[in-house]
Amino acid sequence: MTRLVDVRNMSRWIADHGPQRCITGMIDYLDADFRRWEQFDKTPRVASHTPFGVIELMPTSDHETYGFKYVNGHPSNPQRGFQTVTAFGVLADVHNGYPTFLAEMTLLTALRTAATSALAARALARPDSQVMAMIGTGSQAEFQALAFRQTLGIDTLRVYDVDPDAIAKLARNLTPLGFSIEAASSAADAARGADIITTCTADKQLATVLHDADVAAGMHVNAIGGDCPGKTELDPAILDRARVFVEYTPQTRIEGEIQHQSDDFPVTELWEVLLGRKEGRTSPADITLFDSVGFAIEDFSALRYVRDQVAGTDYESEIDLVAAPEDPKDLFGMLGAFSPVG
Ligand code: NAD
Repeated sequence: MTRLVDVRNMSRWIADHGPQRCITGMIDYLDADFRRWEQFDKTPRVASHTPFGVIELMPTSDHETYGFKYVNGHPSNPQRGFQTVTAFGVLADVHNGYPTFLAEMTLLTALRTAATSALAARALARPDSQVMAMIGTGSQAEFQALAFRQTLGIDTLRVYDVDPDAIAKLARNLTPLGFSIEAASSAADAARGADIITTCTADKQLATVLHDADVAAGMHVNAIGGDCPGKTELDPAILDRARVFVEYTPQTRIEGEIQHQSDDFPVTELWEVLLGRKEGRTSPADITLFDSVGFAIEDFSALRYVRDQVAGTDYESEIDLVAAPEDPKDLFGMLGAFSPVG
């Protein structure tokens, strides 16, 4: 039987344990998997683009366990009452290829993206950072805020979204949790005086959400919304001034902010910084930029974390997903119970 965490149980598990605590645990799993980066199979995700958005498959394996995530990105979905991003994921046993664990990953992606952003910021941002600007306050935003409070103690947010209702929603969700939320009149206004800028907008176009003049020396930019060919958020001039860090270079060159740059544009992979093989921030004046697109190993870590946390609890159930006849050669015999018509 395959173990399942469905939407209701994922919501219940996160609520019962607290999203900030779940993110903390997930950061440890991510950190461990980034540090054994070289053991994993890696490939840029497989994307199917349409005028509406993109559907992607994100596979990886550490040769004990195989994992993949199915995820979509449809920026016009909220106007039609749907989520921009939805996902589910699977872990499988490489010894027989059977799927062992299946989980909703819309909520889990928000947790893992926030945890990855925080892992990067812990390595790259100035440790004395106090204020974060958030450009784009949709589905990912609250999770991002909680992750940055957990890792860097940031509880003051300067927020901007083209949709005032999205700002009001963020304030409604985060103020009771002890955050100080200042609504800004523009992205530039939000960025002014911030130590960290998170860009988390959804628009299937080459947008300039953040201009060069908005980014001052010493800032860390956590750019997570530009994650598809033809979908970026930053003024390319920012990249010329910043030290740029990525997850998996071949995928980020296709999907990230660096898609505008030549193939030899210098980037550093985050795992190399975590292992101490490459430098992260070298001075308080550096501009560090995490050009995040989301990579399969992060989903693998997130699935592994939830699988371990819910094992043996009522947050998981079993589903009959794999046809497994008693005689492994008699698949047809399984129809016998239902009197096949031929
Ligand atoms: P969402 O649609 O729920 O929220 C996006 C918000 O951006 C909306 O509130 C929208 O009004 C706002 N927005 C759009 N254009 C803007 C602009 N020019 N200025 C200010 N605000 C603007 O989407 P979401 O689920 O929060 O995801 C946000 C983005 O992050 C998407 O592009 C998604 O693909 C991406 N994402 C990246 C990762 C990653 O790992 N890097 C993971 C998940 C999502």
